Amino acid sequence: MNITTEVFKVDSSNFDETIKRAALILKKGGLVAFPTETVYGLGADALNPEAVRKIFEAKGRPADNPLIVHIAAKEHLHDLAMDVPAHAAGLVDAFWPGPLTLVLKRKNIVPDITTGGLDTVAVRMPDNQIALELIRQAGTPIAAPSANVSGRPSPTDAGHVIADLAGRIDAVIDGGSVRIGVESTVVDVTGDIPVILRPGGIGIEDIRKCAGDAIIGYTDRAVGEEEAVRSPGMKYTHYSPQTEVVLVEGSGAEVSDRISELVAAAHEKGTRVGLLVTDETASHVSTDEMYSLGERDRPEQAARSLFTGLRWLDGRGVDVIIVDGSVNHEGVGAAVLNRLRKAAGRIIEISPK
Ligand code: AMP
Ligand code: MG
Repeated sequence: MNITTEVFKVDSSNFDETIKRAALILKKGGLVAFPTETVYGLGADALNPEAVRKIFEAKGRPADNPLIVHIAAKEHLHDLAMDVPAHAAGLVDAFWPGPLTLVLKRKNIVPDITTGGLDTVAVRMPDNQIALELIRQAGTPIAAPSANVSGRPSPTDAGHVIADLAGRIDAVIDGGSVRIGVESTVVDVTGDIPVILRPGGIGIEDIRKCAGDAIIGYTDRAVGEEEAVRSPGMKYTHYSPQTEVVLVEGSGAEVSDRISELVAAAHEKGTRVGLLVTDETASHVSTDEMYSLGERDRPEQAARSLFTGLRWLDGRGVDVIIVDGSVNHEGVGAAVLNRLRKAAGRIIEISPK
């Protein structure tokens, strides 16, 4: 697979013309990566099985990991979903356009390959003008997983997409850095009680305010072979740089202290360490390469920095990346911790004394 990947740099002077060109590629069954408010997506016509097959091929994505279908208007949900229960409609009104994906019973128009063979479909309406106009112009729902090679950290700017997928996709629209930095919150609304399948850009507390306290929250846990996997993506390794990642979790001061000790021990052995840490920890430790997650109590900053930081540190020739898990886990912080846990090969949990 080696095709020429066009890079469309979009600005206010060429917006309409650029989006039109990109939409034409999608209409013809091609692949276009584009910015959303969460991360960059790799788009294809969700109703064209041959086009969707190319997404799996370009990313090296397992065929049973279903895709999120993106729409440009709320009413198009009814084209894809059998029925939209009242609690789902309430979530749509509260959070669309935005980083919330709903899993609903699918209509037959949605091909098997898009849903990984499931009888449900995952849908969202992104909050990004480039994404929305692209979907509108394409005139069809767009399937779009994150625009990275499967298993690697998600892309938060066009450079990350090019690093992973140049030569494998038709085009990328460069719309600068994304606003949120982690993927959408995925909620299954097929039953009486909504179930959070993946934490993301919308905090679980906010979903609870809208859908009621009965919703079933999300806990990170290892998914065993025999256990039913409700969100198929949950069983695969994810978000990982090539370098080994060690995550240290616990309360602030203890995490900072433990990271200092780990760095000292590593330096004694001549190991080069990269740190992805909060500003509070950074003020305690010095090491070879460091990337900031921002202040401990500002999880939005950590969300924006986490994939960028993992990719950056991966390129710095360090032997290990030590990550600070003391980020506040409210709001988008739950998604930050979830992605860090999945990226880590080893987790050190410091239990409270
Ligand atoms: P990605 O596009 O890589 O961010 O992943 C999309 C996430 O949504 C994955 O975790 C999928 O497993 C999940 N997902 C997509 N479609 C469905 C579905 N029909 N049922 C349950 N989870 C889904
Ligand atoms: Mg992904």
